[in-house]
Amino acid sequence: MIEIARGMLCEELTYFYIDEITKHGFVIDPGARGEQLAAYAKEKGYVIEKILLTHGHGDHIYGADALRKATGASIVMHKEGKNYVNNPDWNLSVMLCGEKIEFEADEYLEHGDEIVLNANADFKLRMIYVPGHTTDGVAYYSEEEHLIFVGDIIFAGSVGRSDLPGGNSVKLLNGIREEIFTLPGETVILAGHGPQTTVEQEKNTNPVFNLFDE
Ligand SMILES: [Zn+2]
Repeated sequence: MIEIARGMLCEELTYFYIDEITKHGFVIDPGARGEQLAAYAKEKGYVIEKILLTHGHGDHIYGADALRKATGASIVMHKEGKNYVNNPDWNLSVMLCGEKIEFEADEYLEHGDEIVLNANADFKLRMIYVPGHTTDGVAYYSEEEHLIFVGDIIFAGSVGRSDLPGGNSVKLLNGIREEIFTLPGETVILAGHGPQTTVEQEKNTNPVFNLFDE
């Protein structure tokens, strides 16, 4: 079960990824309004076990600490994310959020690590590391449900920018080719901004990769 909350900083999207059987689940990228996201979860009877961050930019992490405090959930991100959540110069929080963000995640993971729901071991996501928009960029993939939460790695019809601290366009495009485009075509891509798409759709039509085809 996936529900989408729209933030207010940069029209960023927060995803509730909830197990229908146990009503336990994960929140991906609580960009803004941590208290409201917690209140929504409470109203719906959801137990948020973990807050998963796709990367450490302010518009994806702004509500994380408040949501953690309100729910008791732990914050998970890639190990390179330490350089962002602790560092306003890299998380761009003053520019994006109007104030400094500094906190610590609870778990810093690596490529290939699985994030498993305590209440249901069949409900899980795998961390896939794709740096280039940031040095800590990851996607969270469900092979069983054919979906992937990608943050700002790739969008419908474009890719994340690579001109911010830690950005690298070669790494980003290679990472998308090697880690995203090799997934089954029907895999639904859920990005941090904009409409959902699929692996097949982006492989065939994303202009960043198809510009020189004709
Ligand atoms: Zn970003």
